[in-house]
Amino acid sequence: MTRLFASDMHLDQSRPDITAQFLQLLDGPARDAQSLYLLGDLFEVWLGDDEPGELGEQLIAALASLSATGVSLFVMQGNRDFLMDERFCERAGASLLVDPTIVTIGSERVLVTHGDALCTGDAAYQRLRSLVRDPQVRREFLALPIDRRRELAEQARAGSRAHLAEADEYITDVSQDAVERAMRTAGVTKLVHGHTHRPAVHRFQCDQLDCTRIVLGDWHHQGSVLRWDGQGFELMALPRT
Ligand code: MN
Repeated sequence: MTRLFASDMHLDQSRPDITAQFLQLLDGPARDAQSLYLLGDLFEVWLGDDEPGELGEQLIAALASLSATGVSLFVMQGNRDFLMDERFCERAGASLLVDPTIVTIGSERVLVTHGDALCTGDAAYQRLRSLVRDPQVRREFLALPIDRRRELAEQARAGSRAHLAEADEYITDVSQDAVERAMRTAGVTKLVHGHTHRPAVHRFQCDQLDCTRIVLGDWHHQGSVLRWDGQGFELMALPRT
């Protein structure tokens, strides 16, 4: 009955503490859930399904082991791991979700998205987002040798850090207009997303309807999971011991 949502683990070789905590979730509480939704930025960087690396292989094995127990696993791409694709999902026993997707939780339709597409206040970022998601750009990048891909990914990260340092805060927050537009288009009153690293439950009115926007937290200093237990949603911080 239980459904779990998480995002923004940003798993990386340099942070074994995050990987260990996430693996504990997969090997523990997630086993009792009906489904687990990973809404983007599972990895800090993903260079292609053909080059998962040691950490990627470790996660594929852990996810495959979880899905083999009968837990339904859903994966969405984030802005860090947008090259995570069908082959990764097939090996992990997961279904790839397009961004955004409407999922039915109990009797409620809920819009789920990574969240970066809602940050329309950052025009430079949205231009970069369209560029890297262009199918031809994707194909050309994936055709490069792995060392060249790594080099380009590092350059892009350095560039985005420089850009973000000039923005008001490290990651631009979502725009309320974009949120309401997305919810209106989907015909939902509940939205779940990550990306902004600002975990919170926001309640507001849109078109005279009571609406809720739940923001998943990142895993930099602690874990963050949204749990639905058949009655309602609970956004939980998971202390790292
Ligand atoms: Mn993100």
